[in-house]
Amino acid sequence: MAQNIIAIDGPSGTGKSTTAKMVAGELGYTYLDTGAMYRAITWVLENTKISFDKNNQVLINGENRESEIRDPKISAVVSKYSAIPAIREALTAQQREIASAQPCVLDGRDIGTVVFPNAKHKFFLTADYKTRAARRLLELQNAGKAGGETQESVEKNLRARDEADSTREVAPLVKAQDAIEIDTSHLTIQEQVQKVLQSVGEVARCNNSLNATHKG
Ligand code: C5P
Repeated sequence: MAQNIIAIDGPSGTGKSTTAKMVAGELGYTYLDTGAMYRAITWVLENTKISFDKNNQVLINGENRESEIRDPKISAVVSKYSAIPAIREALTAQQREIASAQPCVLDGRDIGTVVFPNAKHKFFLTADYKTRAARRLLELQNAGKAGGETQESVEKNLRARDEADSTREVAPLVKAQDAIEIDTSHLTIQEQVQKVLQSVGEVARCNNSLNATHKG
C-alpha cells in the first residue's frame, strides 16, 4: 500500500488541480500535476526546432513554458500525444520516481488505476459539461488566453478530449473501482477540498484505531 499517495483522477474542469493543490497544502504533501507533464511533452513536440551545433550537440530551449502549455492550441492536440504508449511509459516512470521520494498528491487520468494502483487514497472527480466549460473559460480569461474561445468551443474541446482519453488503449481515463467519486458540479472549492480531507482523515483515524486494536 502506498501510504503517502493521494490519487485524484477525473476529466478536465472538475476541480482536480485546485483540490489537489489545496489538499497537498493542508497536509504538507507535494503536488504533482501529471497533466502538465503531458502538456509539456506536447508543447515540445509541437514547437521545438531541434538543431545541432558544430560539435553535433542537440540544442533545445530550456525556458519556462508554463503559459504555452495551457494554450488552447495545446489542449486541442494533447490527447493525440498522451495516447502514445512510449510517451506514457516515460512519464509514468518519472511520476513514480518523484512521488516515491515524498508524500504526494497527484492529479491526472490514470493515477489510481495505473501509476499508483496501490495508492492509499483515491478520488475520482466529475462535473457536468456546462460547469466544466464555464470554469475552463474563466481560467483562460483570467490568464489572458481566451482569444476567440467561447463556452461552446471550450465545451467541444472538453468533449473531444474526454472521448479520446477514455477510449485510448493504454491507461484510459476510467474510475478506479476503489476510488471515491465526487461530483463537483454544485460544490465550492472549499467544499470539495473538505470532502477529500475528511475522507483522508477518516481512513487515517480508522487505521490508527485498527492498529491500536491489533496492538492492544
Ligand atoms: O489535466 P490536463 O487537462 O492538464 O491534462 C491534459 C491531457 O493530458 C489530458 O487531456 C490527457 O490527454 C493527458 N493526461 C493523461 N494522463 C494523465 C494526465 C493527463 O493522459 N495522468
